[in-house]
Amino acid sequence: MRYNISELLSGKVSSIEIDGYLEIEDLNIDSFKVDKVYVKGTIFKKTSLGLELSYESDWTSHCSRCLKEIDYKIKGSIKRSIVTKFNDIDDENVFVESDVIDLSDLIVDDIILNLPTQLLCSELCKGLCVKCGADLNTENCECDTQNIDPRLSKLKDLFK
Ligand SMILES: [Zn+2]
Ligand SMILES: [Zn+2]
Repeated sequence: MRYNISELLSGKVSSIEIDGYLEIEDLNIDSFKVDKVYVKGTIFKKTSLGLELSYESDWTSHCSRCLKEIDYKIKGSIKRSIVTKFNDIDDENVFVESDVIDLSDLIVDDIILNLPTQLLCSELCKGLCVKCGADLNTENCECDTQNIDPRLSKLKDLFK
């Protein structure tokens, strides 16, 4: 997602609109199926150069407990200063070396940073049986999962 900012740098325009899709085909983060991300915002020059954008995307992922496919909406916003001198680089700004700014890495990094570590189809999801793999939301299996804990099974031996 590249934008030419030469007219912004020369002062011909004071802002450039960002409105489009970022395609991320090769990116697969954990169980997230990534598609395209809608991005909207501006690159502007006020007292200094900067950018503001928001993004959103409908993704699919899996419940961490029962593995059911679930829809997940990803959303975020990014504000950064833009610097053109190497010496001014820090964590909070974006360095632009030429007339072209590439927003792809900025957005992808932000998405990765904000991904939830665990997604559930429902707070009440019972998950899968650890023995037979049955989906306990829809069926009851006959497995005895009570004595999975080895400390407990030792206790049981005492009473034989
Ligand atoms: Zn679930
Ligand atoms: Zn089972």
